[in-house]
This record gives sequence, structure tokens and C-alpha cells, in this order.
Amino acid sequence: MNARLVDRMDRAAEEASSQGFEALVIPPSPDLAYLTGYDPMPLERPTLLVLRAGDPPAMLVPELERPLASDSPGAAAIELIPWSDGVDPYFEATRLLPKAGRVAVGDRLWASHVLGLQRALPGLAFEAASAVMARLRTVKDEDELAALRRAARGADESFRAICTASFLGRREEEVAADLADLLVHNGHSRAEFTIVASGPNAASPHHEAGSRTILPKDAVVMDFGGELGRYYSDTTRTVVVGEPPAGFERVYESVHRAQVAACDAVAPGVPAQDIDRVARRIIDEAGFGARFIHRTGHGIGLEVHEPPYLVEGNHWALEPGTTFSVEPGVYLEGEFGVRIEDIVAVTAQGVERLNRSTRELQVVE
Ligand code: ZN
Ligand code: ZN
Ligand code: ZN
Repeated sequence: MNARLVDRMDRAAEEASSQGFEALVIPPSPDLAYLTGYDPMPLERPTLLVLRAGDPPAMLVPELERPLASDSPGAAAIELIPWSDGVDPYFEATRLLPKAGRVAVGDRLWASHVLGLQRALPGLAFEAASAVMARLRTVKDEDELAALRRAARGADESFRAICTASFLGRREEEVAADLADLLVHNGHSRAEFTIVASGPNAASPHHEAGSRTILPKDAVVMDFGGELGRYYSDTTRTVVVGEPPAGFERVYESVHRAQVAACDAVAPGVPAQDIDRVARRIIDEAGFGARFIHRTGHGIGLEVHEPPYLVEGNHWALEPGTTFSVEPGVYLEGEFGVRIEDIVAVTAQGVERLNRSTRELQVVE
């Protein structure tokens, strides 16, 4: 019996109950992997873990996936309820769920499955389980922190190496392919995203690397990450090809200062929105506030983006073990963009920066 998984399932059931839910229903997703170690593909045939305080965990599984499910790390603690093609799985689910009350369903439960459950159990009110799951998943244990640290180091090594590669005259997508190879070379099982945005493309925060050829005086935003030991890396650095473009240094300096100050403001008990405010105030005062067009950061773990979000209005107090990005940016349309992103962990005393790459402006060739 996997004690860690049993403990997670117990705590999830209790958290759901304390938030007034009769049950917690989790489909294949990072939530399911977190709770049970089972990580199958989400499909039209529903797989549903049902947790209820006081009851043992139960999981509805398609008959053909029963062998897979019973081999999974948490299976010994879960009653598996197989259902066969030809029966109505939502009717089978009625055996596991109450007839009335509030039920929390995982954010990634397909609408078709929610509607199927709603048809079978019209007395239930379905709500998102994110508030329940965030209470557990935002605070990482030592093993999770170690995995995130390794992922961050792999990303740092990749950045160090890409700075010695050539940029000038190459297409964004070529540099992006190099970055993806470097992530794998530095321990990642796969690259998840490699944004390489050059020149005016850098003003689009989620630009997809394309066929644009990198020119002299281009600023290049590189935002990249992948999966290592099931946990993600996600880091951004902005470099310049030779001389920076006009007006660039003032922008870079303000983003750099904002990012350092926001990282330094991280400590237990600080409301998430305060980290955003620290970064935003510095960029506002530099005159670029209107061009800082996104929140300051997002949680990271089994997903690249997960709670907590570092955004105005989020009063949630940071807790030791919480990991998230700090990534202010300024985007001047038609000109250039600047973003600097590190992953940090809240510690008992303050903060640990998991990324250690230099934040000073790097000039590439
Ligand atoms: Zn992003
Ligand atoms: Zn990123
Ligand atoms: Zn990010």
C-alpha cells in the first residue's frame, strides 16, 4: 500500500467534505496522477475516481483498462469497479454517488461525462473541484520540490548552452529546435514548449516560433520548459543580438528590477496579489505599466500552469512548499518585448529561486 497516495486521497476526501461536497469525482488528469499515481489517457469511456469522506476510494474503470488500473501505484487502496461496453457507465456511477447534494468534479472532466452524470443523477449539483485540489497540490512535498529543482537546473543548463549558439541569420524555429534538444539533453523526458520570439514578434507573449530570420539588433524572448520526472520547468530569458534596439535598455532594466524585487518579496503569509503588485509598481513607475499585459506568475508542478495565480484579487497567503513563476514582461507592439521568468519556492524563511540563470542582459551572436 502506497502510504503517500493513501494520505493524499484521505486529505482530498476530507477537504471536499469540509467544503460541503458529498463527493469528489476525478477523471484521468494531473489530479488523478497526484492522488493515485494512475495516469491513463482521457477518453470517451469514462474513468472516474470517487472519493467520499469515511468511505474507501472507488474507481469506475472501463473493463478493458482494468489491467492497467490494477497495476497502478495506488490500486491496492482503491476498489475498482469495472464497466463493460454496452452498459451505461453513468448509471454504474450512481452506485458510487449520492442522490442529492453538491459534488466536486475535476476541472478536466469532459463536458460529455458531466452531462452523462447529470442525466443519471439529476439531484446532484456539480461544481469544479479546483478549490479542493488546489488546497493539496499547491503545497509540494520534499520529493516534488526535488523534482522541480532538477527540472529548473536542466532548463538553466539549456539556457547557458543556447547563449553560445548562433542566432544571427537563423530562423526562430531552428533556435527553438536547438532549445528542445537541449532540454532533453539536460535530463528532460520531453520539451513541452519552446517560444523563440525575435524582433517585433517578441511583443507577443505566447508567440509560436516561426520562419522569421533573426536580424542584428533583435531582442529575442526565449520561454521554454518541459517535463522531468513528471514535473515541469518553465523559464524565460530575453537576449539581444549584438547592439540592443533603441529604447530597449530602459525597458530591460525595469523588467529586471521588477522581477528581482518580486522574487525577493516572496515569503510565507504574503498574499499572492502582493507579488504581482511589487512587480507592477516598478514597471508602472518606469512608464511601461500599460504594456505589462499579463499577471506576474502561475503555480507549477504536475502542470505548467496551476494555482496559485499571482494576480490582483488573489488574497491567498503563500505557504512554504508553494512553487510558482515570477515573470513580469513589457511588450511594445511593432518593436520588441522583454520577459524574465524564474520558478521560485516559498520556504519557511522566505524564498528559494529554483532557476539560477543570470538575469543580466546577455548579448548573443
Ligand atoms: Zn505564458
Ligand atoms: Zn514561461
Ligand atoms: Zn510561465
